[in-house]
Amino acid sequence: MILFKKAAAFSSYIQCVHHAQNSTGFVPTMGALHQGHLSLIAAAKEQNPVAIASIFVNPTQFNNKSDFEKYPITIERDIELLEAAGCNALFLPNVAEIYPEGTAQTRHYHLNFLETVFEGKYRPGHFQGVCNVMHRLLSIIPATHLYMGQKDYQQCMVVKRLLSLINSATVLHTCPTLREADGLAMSSRNMRLNETERHNAVAISKALFSMKEQLNKMPIPALINQATQLLLQHHFKIDYIEITDATTLQPVTNHNGQQQLVALIAAFQNDVRLIDNLVLN
Ligand code: AMP
Repeated sequence: MILFKKAAAFSSYIQCVHHAQNSTGFVPTMGALHQGHLSLIAAAKEQNPVAIASIFVNPTQFNNKSDFEKYPITIERDIELLEAAGCNALFLPNVAEIYPEGTAQTRHYHLNFLETVFEGKYRPGHFQGVCNVMHRLLSIIPATHLYMGQKDYQQCMVVKRLLSLINSATVLHTCPTLREADGLAMSSRNMRLNETERHNAVAISKALFSMKEQLNKMPIPALINQATQLLLQHHFKIDYIEITDATTLQPVTNHNGQQQLVALIAAFQNDVRLIDNLVLN
């Protein structure tokens, strides 16, 4: 695996790869890698001769300073994991490389409704930060294919919109969420959970799978109420539990059997914020 720290060097490299008519698969990450990330590398490798990863903890997408400061960093292990996974190139920039004019000089993207709900509502500015970093990364790494996780459901929708706003030719692939054996969605933030919090955390996936199982047996508000009770019993502080239309994210209270639905949850175990989602039908 070739490691690049400079944008200019990476740009030259990817130009050579594309010049040789090889397609590229790109997996952007913030590091502290787990099997979920590696499943994206596997998808990129399966569909392209050249798989690329980036590791960059993007300051502009953290609306909470302490969440940014406590974000786990395991760079040496990450490099070993990427190498073992057969990743061909890693982009590991510093902040100045991504934001040459400083992090205060960011662009604004018209995300409209997408930015007013769920992660957009509870993490003001988060998706603007995501768009800024993704736009810059894609300008350095204009990969043929981009692989992102359904774990961040709304983020995939935002990046899809960004690709269209910037007329990018990169094709987005949304890949399934990898889970621990007990159902907890893999996440870098899981490293921050103590034993009790880790035990409680599984209630999120239990709530999601229970909503899926009981979708046609109960009205939607009752499903949400039941999921809320389960989370409260497990000492969660809830940002949101909602069932929405899977393509528009508009809330649904009355299921007509036709619409595809997604259940979305964000909740805190003490100061660790976890998110997860499940397509219900
Ligand atoms: P992050 O490092 O958290 O920014 O995540 C980098 C990419 O990995 C994003 O596209 C995430 O959606 C994806 N990802 C995170 N967790 C998982 C998971 N459990 N399964 C699949 N993809 C994931």
